[in-house]
Amino acid sequence: YKIEKPANEPVLSYRPGSPEREELKAKLKELKSREIEIPLIIGGKEVKTGDFGECRMPHDHQHRLAVYHKAGPKEIEMAIEAAREAKKEWARMAWEDRIAIFRKAAELLAGPYRSLLNAATMLGQSKNVFQAEIDSACELIDFFRFNTYYATQIYKDQPYSPVGFWNRMEYRPLEGFVFAVTPFNFTSIAGNLPTSPAMLGNTVLWKPASSAIYSAYYIMKLLEEAGLPPGVINFIPGSGSKVGDYVLASPELAGIHFTGSTEVFKSMWRTVGENIEKYNTYPRIVGETGGKDFVFVHESAQVAPVVTALIRGAFEYQGQKCSAASRAYIPDNRWEEIKEELLAQISELKMGSPEDFTNFVNAVIDKNAYQSIKEYIDYAKAHEDAEILIGGNCDDSKGYFIEPTVILAKTPDFKTMREEIFGPVLTVYVYDADKYEETLHICDQTSPYGLTGSIFAQDRKAIVLAEDILVNAAGNFYINDKPTGAVVGQQPFGGSRASGTNDKAGSYLNLLRWVSPRAIKETF
Ligand code: GLU
Repeated sequence: YKIEKPANEPVLSYRPGSPEREELKAKLKELKSREIEIPLIIGGKEVKTGDFGECRMPHDHQHRLAVYHKAGPKEIEMAIEAAREAKKEWARMAWEDRIAIFRKAAELLAGPYRSLLNAATMLGQSKNVFQAEIDSACELIDFFRFNTYYATQIYKDQPYSPVGFWNRMEYRPLEGFVFAVTPFNFTSIAGNLPTSPAMLGNTVLWKPASSAIYSAYYIMKLLEEAGLPPGVINFIPGSGSKVGDYVLASPELAGIHFTGSTEVFKSMWRTVGENIEKYNTYPRIVGETGGKDFVFVHESAQVAPVVTALIRGAFEYQGQKCSAASRAYIPDNRWEEIKEELLAQISELKMGSPEDFTNFVNAVIDKNAYQSIKEYIDYAKAHEDAEILIGGNCDDSKGYFIEPTVILAKTPDFKTMREEIFGPVLTVYVYDADKYEETLHICDQTSPYGLTGSIFAQDRKAIVLAEDILVNAAGNFYINDKPTGAVVGQQPFGGSRASGTNDKAGSYLNLLRWVSPRAIKETF
């Protein structure tokens, strides 16, 4: 076969009058007009437990989109059994047939499923139309297309065979099942974490984030329609700790594919350690967790791109991206002009429901998130080392709304310069322009994370110095661009330190984690 490297799915405009806009509007209306009941899907069968959770809209918390059933120990046991059964055929199926299913899923999503997934993401996770389109449509389509392409490259990579011998590499799936635990903030990640191990012949237990079960369920329906055999991916929403503890105790656990909080990831890692004697194999642990991502400005930088990067990096999707710009270092001799433009543009941002396409800022995901972000803002309001430059107001009467907020910190180690907030809050530290190098070191040492970061400069030497000093501070490093919005196939995504195992989502490096190669030597 000749399988070409795919191109990225183009982002649709949703301009007034465009067909995609009409279709999406109709889908939003349709989804809002009915409440659905979401079952577990185990071995291809719908399972109902009667232990209910609710999916509510973050921007209008009185509106319920769905109720869902939660998995308990019995259902987890059933899912493990279903994964074991399905594996027998799935692992032996020709890889061409396996990946065909995900290539078909990409086409269904580019076509009839696009408006459904976008509408579900807008309503269920409070994303504006552009944020939904780049996530639940384009990025997920890209994950399916690029990952299947990378899988073909892996299968084709074979060792040298001298005359008289035949050396082969058999790219076996892991021995056991993979546990995918997915976050609320990207529908594309929710789709990627269970499917990338599945492409390589693994079977999966998938626990979606409780606050994003609505769109996750529709991904499951999409995969079923694309022809995914029963039991290859088993959909088991439920309480994180209960499902987690039970799944991690299974001797058949062979891998974890996780995106979520640092705290949960560490606790899973600890549990795996405690259970190590029980497992049939060492589980592969792949995780992407938090960030405290920086935008570092040198005095040679241009103002306009810095301001755009700060606004888009910090406030798109209400700052709820692991990659969000949440601390900025600005030289004192450029601060006045940057500040003026930054505050002027922020004051123009509209906040409200994503159903009104002109709103840039929507609600944060739920009450817990709202309270925790508000606490950081209140802390800054009360502290003498900080000043709120704009925003700072919160209102949860209808939805969980928090204004885009900029905090000026008088010290570079102020709490909001160090800790991940996961909300629309940017903290700025203004440094002495003569202390560029020294401040780069401070930036490197201020947080335990290492996910993303940006340097803005025209002076090449300043860029090189930043690349050098910040070598481990960001797995995704941007020069004169915002630290968010990594594109599959273009900027493989992930970080190290407290941010994760850096197994680069959207690249062959991630897929390699889901195979356990067997080297076969045959002598003639
Ligand atoms: N890949 C996303 C980006 O580059 C962030 C993913 C995440 O939040 O986990 O913005």
